[in-house]
Amino acid sequence: MLRGLMQERPLLISSLIEYADAYHGDTEIVTRTVEGPIHRTTYREAHRRSRQLANALARFGVKPGDRVGTLAWNTYRHFEIYYAVSGSGAVCHTVNPRLFPPQIEYIVNHAADRILFLDLTFVELVEKLAPALTSVERYVIMTDRAHMPKTALKGALCYEDLIAGEADVFAWPLLDEMTASSLCYTSGTTGNPKGVLYAHRSTVLHSYAACMTDVLGLSARDSVLVIVPLFHANAWGLPYAAPLAGAKLVLPGYKLDGQSVHELLAAERVTFTAGVPTVWLMLLEHLAKTGATLPHLERLVCGGSAMPRAMVETFEKTYDVRAIHAWGMTEMSPLGTLGTLKAKHAELSKDRQIDIQVKQGRGVFGVEMKIVGDDKKELPRDGKAFGDLLVRGPWICNAYFKEDKPAVDADGWFPTGDVATLDADGYMHITDRSKDVIKSGGEWISSIDLENAAVGYPKVKEACVIGVRHPKWDERPLLLVVPADGAAPTKAELLDYLRDKVVKWWLPDDVVVVKELPHTATGKLLKAKLREEYKDYVLPTAG
Ligand code: AMP
Repeated sequence: MLRGLMQERPLLISSLIEYADAYHGDTEIVTRTVEGPIHRTTYREAHRRSRQLANALARFGVKPGDRVGTLAWNTYRHFEIYYAVSGSGAVCHTVNPRLFPPQIEYIVNHAADRILFLDLTFVELVEKLAPALTSVERYVIMTDRAHMPKTALKGALCYEDLIAGEADVFAWPLLDEMTASSLCYTSGTTGNPKGVLYAHRSTVLHSYAACMTDVLGLSARDSVLVIVPLFHANAWGLPYAAPLAGAKLVLPGYKLDGQSVHELLAAERVTFTAGVPTVWLMLLEHLAKTGATLPHLERLVCGGSAMPRAMVETFEKTYDVRAIHAWGMTEMSPLGTLGTLKAKHAELSKDRQIDIQVKQGRGVFGVEMKIVGDDKKELPRDGKAFGDLLVRGPWICNAYFKEDKPAVDADGWFPTGDVATLDADGYMHITDRSKDVIKSGGEWISSIDLENAAVGYPKVKEACVIGVRHPKWDERPLLLVVPADGAAPTKAELLDYLRDKVVKWWLPDDVVVVKELPHTATGKLLKAKLREEYKDYVLPTAG
């Protein structure tokens, strides 16, 4: 081999904040604080404070590889912790506070977090859990002295007091780029959560990719509202990609209701935002009620669950915002596909463009994808055949934390657990989670397609489709709907509405109107629970 003669500078997370400080030092980070008021700082100041925090961590004896946990919302302090912890060689473990308390206990113990940073809103929760958190030596409450609560947490420290006493000189170590940087547990619907351990290299490569025009397309002219939580797959990489691009960061704290989100969009002239469909639904409801508009917002990325067509249409047609579908997984850092259009789509009608935008999107460079059938053989990329989706790439998980077996097959392919089609232009369309797909008479019915169609009906707020046992067909679809406020949809009108939207044999065998549907901690429908609840349900077609 003739070896290239280029520099082998490692790809490190610390270089992202160093860059933002040097080139975009006065660019703002704006936070709706947990304490209430709006707080404004800059990349330069955030870098300075993360060096102070890195000194505090060193004083506590935090060593490279040690895990430091957070139970926190999107705020400037959480952002500083990201950089202080990973930058100094330790692992920033973001814990999802929406999990059930026993799961939080399991995750913190499994990760063996030595220090736990927590927001004011989680003091009570952590007080209850503390006796069982065997590895945690110190609790740091992310607030200032004036807001420090009385707490039973032994030796609880105040974040602002902690860093105030530290020098702001700290040389970020020149780590091996494969050093672990952060840890995030997947909120599995069954079994214990599994830890995905990111590296500096994977994170920096993912950040470059995130900034590409057809991915998140971030630039130094953007104002970025990060709705997706910093505890959910590193907020889709935004806390790394925004400093790389020099974009302004807007962090919403814990208030994600329509009005609070709209206030930030307007006041901070937000041009780009990202989050799950539930939040955008609340925003659209607020806009419809108040008549407010979105004059500054250019792009809105929606992922985590499928974005319903009606949502794409409203953002595009009523508010002139590009609604961009994204798909990914915690195991993928998380970006996998983005639903941006190609030049050849420019001449299409809006409705034809939206046909493409409702797909999950095109694969990002760095993520290889293929679909396979039951026999593991690759299926055609014709937009019709659907099979298990496999992925491979430098920011995709190879093995879970503390598990000795690989998470990939012999050729390095990771099974996503999603069932999808791929088309000739590279667009991927999820038809189901492999365990949610409804197997009717040997054919597959996509529960997601049915749900998306059902939520298009104005009297429906949320829809869920599960397979229910059927004596003849093995399984048939049952549609569960939560009515829109004040509405009372009937089975007959729903089936009528669906009739020209799906093939006849996909039409649900029954419809049940429910008050609410269960969700996981990341807002996904908890179908396992519903399947259990309806396992003895007798369909009217069963006789
Ligand atoms: P998580 O690791 O919690 O982010 O969950 C990843 C899973 O969420 C994926 O494997 C998909 O099943 C689902 N998911 C993510 N984005 C989308 C999307 N745009 N449409 C449909 N499902 C999605």
